Amino acid sequence: MTISALTELTEDEQFFQQTVAGYAREKIGPLVHRMDQEAAIDPSLLPGLFEMGLMGIEIPEQFGGAGATFMSSILAIEALATVDPSVSVLVDVQNTLVINALINFGSDAIREKYLPRMAREWVGSYCLSESGSGSDAFALKARAEKRDGQWVINGEKLWITNGNESNLFIVFANIDFELGYKGITAFLVERGTPGFTIGKKEDKLGIRASSTCTLSFEDCAIPEDNVLGEIGKGYKIAIETLNEGRIGIGAQMLGLAQGAFDYAMGYVQEREQFGKPIGQFQGVQFQYARMAMDIEAARLLVYNAARLKDEGKPFVKQAAFAKLYASEVAERTASMAVELCGGVGFTKEYPLEKFFRDSKIGKIYEGTSNMQLQTIAKLLLSEYGRKR
Ligand SMILES: Cc1cc2nc3c(=O)[nH]c(=O)nc-3n(C[C@H](O)[C@H](O)[C@H](O)COP(=O)(O)OP(=O)(O)OC[C@H]3O[C@@H](n4cnc5c(N)ncnc54)[C@H](O)[C@@H]3O)c2cc1C
Repeated sequence: MTISALTELTEDEQFFQQTVAGYAREKIGPLVHRMDQEAAIDPSLLPGLFEMGLMGIEIPEQFGGAGATFMSSILAIEALATVDPSVSVLVDVQNTLVINALINFGSDAIREKYLPRMAREWVGSYCLSESGSGSDAFALKARAEKRDGQWVINGEKLWITNGNESNLFIVFANIDFELGYKGITAFLVERGTPGFTIGKKEDKLGIRASSTCTLSFEDCAIPEDNVLGEIGKGYKIAIETLNEGRIGIGAQMLGLAQGAFDYAMGYVQEREQFGKPIGQFQGVQFQYARMAMDIEAARLLVYNAARLKDEGKPFVKQAAFAKLYASEVAERTASMAVELCGGVGFTKEYPLEKFFRDSKIGKIYEGTSNMQLQTIAKLLLSEYGRKR
């Protein structure tokens, strides 16, 4: 991977990203094909991800984490995705959704209880979607009621990433449907809580090793204190966390595009037709020149959004730009990389068909492309709003 954009990465950031990329190539690379075929993350990878500090990047050091920036999470997610977008999304959900929600909205008691575990050994899931509520997330039907000093949750969740690996689940449920979205509250549910079942794992087109599970809650009672943030403010937690999470998906898609590009560039210099390497034909050169430009533009959008977030500046529009554009670039780049490698690009012996399959999810989860466009348009309308 050659980074040529003026991204202003510090030396520490460059070193960190290169270290993660090296780890991904060495430790994850040999397992990628099998994990895709078996549709499961190799459990032997998890201890290494924790030891590397990749499962608690922003957790303050006092709680056993790396105490690093959001940008560091983004760099790790990108580097992992150059090798395997499935492992990348496991780390992405852990850091940009679950841990960030715990850090930003958890009480002192919640942070003290859960952050050290998340840094050391626990994987987390973020459970918003249901069968009837995807883009219209606040139409969720899971409900929570207070009984004998506990919260009791009933309902179903769909599409939950890390469902197989997770120990802690942030579950959004409504405490009073008459309040509409202002009844939505975030609850912390531990694996093994009676009444909580992890169900079927989806059989997917791409990111097959990443587990995507249904969850069901039947009179699942959790301690009163396991509310994350304020009661009735779950919608705010969902919106704010997903705004950050989108930059993570942008980084995953960026890494995927870079991984596919790097492979294709190696191939076009080796493969000879008509007496010379195919990478020397102008038609092919124009194709890979355009791919490189696309990737660089995506990188600038992703890094810019992450920097804005770290500096406490408004970043919502830039996060939507980053996710929307990087997912388009990932799909385009992976598709072209398959073509540049000809017939072999289409086979499972080479990594390109997997990158192509994996790219499709970027336009779907954490807000479809239409939802990103809607966010951008809403912000533009308020920026350009007519004053009457
Ligand atoms: C692999 C995978 C992992 C996932 N992980 C998680 C997870 O960990 N946690 C979680 O909570 N969810 C997760 N999801 C759910 C994901 O966020 C939703 O699938 C996504 O938000 C889209 O919702 P939907 O599938 O219901 O599609 P729908 O909302 O039904 O959308 C279908 C189509 O209609 C379009 N559309 C809908 N409404 C509008 C509108 N108003 N204007 C224009 N177009 C519109 C959409 O853009 C899309 O093209 C995951 C999904 C997948 C596939």
